[in-house]
Amino acid sequence: MNAPRRRGTCPSLSQSMVTGDGLLVRITPTGATMSCDAFRTLCAAARRCGNGIIEVTSRGSVQIRGLTKTSAKDLAAAVVRTDVAFFEGPPILNAPLAGLDPHEVLDTSITAVELRRAIAAAPFSAQIGAKVSVALDGGGALHLDAVPADVRMRADAECLHVALGGDVEDATSLGAVRVEHAVEAAMNIMRVLAAAGPAARARDMVAANGAEPFRRTIADIHIDVPPPPRRPAAEPIGTHPLRDGTVAIGLGLAFGHTDAAALEELAQAAAISGARGLRTAPDHVLLLVAVPRRGAARLADIAQRLGFIVRADDPRRRIIACAGAPACAAAEIGTRALASFLASEGAISGATEPMVHVSGCAKGCACPRSTPLTIVGMRGRCGVVVNGSAHDELLATFPPEALPGALSRVADLVRDMRATDESAGEVLSRLGRARLARLLLGGASDA
Ligand code: SF4
Repeated sequence: MNAPRRRGTCPSLSQSMVTGDGLLVRITPTGATMSCDAFRTLCAAARRCGNGIIEVTSRGSVQIRGLTKTSAKDLAAAVVRTDVAFFEGPPILNAPLAGLDPHEVLDTSITAVELRRAIAAAPFSAQIGAKVSVALDGGGALHLDAVPADVRMRADAECLHVALGGDVEDATSLGAVRVEHAVEAAMNIMRVLAAAGPAARARDMVAANGAEPFRRTIADIHIDVPPPPRRPAAEPIGTHPLRDGTVAIGLGLAFGHTDAAALEELAQAAAISGARGLRTAPDHVLLLVAVPRRGAARLADIAQRLGFIVRADDPRRRIIACAGAPACAAAEIGTRALASFLASEGAISGATEPMVHVSGCAKGCACPRSTPLTIVGMRGRCGVVVNGSAHDELLATFPPEALPGALSRVADLVRDMRATDESAGEVLSRLGRARLARLLLGGASDA
């Protein structure tokens, strides 16, 4: 337990990872509800063994920071003693309300269990890359369209639609299979990935050689149907009705992290309100599950007091931040403090989509895609990239204290110039680099 992490693998409970604030372990829940008591035990162990920082990742895994070699073993032993169901190996993601959602057409929990078992038993399992993932979507309200995965399966009333690589926007459709063939289809695709080696990812393979090698492996069980229709984006924050008449309350962790003491208090309040437990969800979200309706509003108030995001329009959701300094040894600025400052200063007020990505260095771990404004740490200063990612060309650099003013000027102009249905990125493109640079640096915008 807690052997050093091999290059190319992901951290787990048994393989910690060295970071700037000590060792980090990652727990990937199976998607089953964790009882409030088990979750409190997990938080208490994180507080005792680590530095008290707990993260929920963009894919819904739990990360515990600030551990030592010895305390990581103590933490692992404490987690194993709880009823927190987690797994190690390729991530098999279920929709976060699988089995509870009145809108889903299929409870994919059973498929997920069978698939994990099949992967563990497969002779090629060691060759499957650690980052290869499967998204199983039962067709409910909290769907997985925005979560990238190598293998995507989405249920409708008749079948499971199968697609490869990326999120719903850029995945390649393979048609569909019947539900009883889901595990066989996923394993056949996994076998092709494994044969290409541990670095192989479905999206890269499709880009290089097309989808035919994958399509051939499911030819016998294939159903020829077009991809399913697009759905509105899932919104996990807020109250969600469940099949049994109770509700789930979705709460966001600002910039993906919180402290163990706040989570312990939340789990205790959830237990007192009669909630059955907690689940994690993509996009740094926790779901309090099976909360009796009469206690839901009070529980949401407690969560808000503890600093959790309870409203979908909370400005902190418009800013993406990586761990930054001091948590990450590579960081050149303190990202989370800066992101929090930007949100409290109203630097992006009125934004309706992710507007700013604060990255501690040019690696850009928290958001590989383009955002309207990306802030990149550089030797204590903040570089600004417009409509790009952390490794793109900088437009200007600032000391951190000058950033809120500079971003406010840009956000105000975007708000004033935006046409209906126009994104912030499109407005910034229209403005042009020279004009934006003047605006960021405090000159007239000549709007
Ligand atoms: S982007 Fe840089 S600073 Fe941020 S977590 Fe990744 S490596 Fe660390």
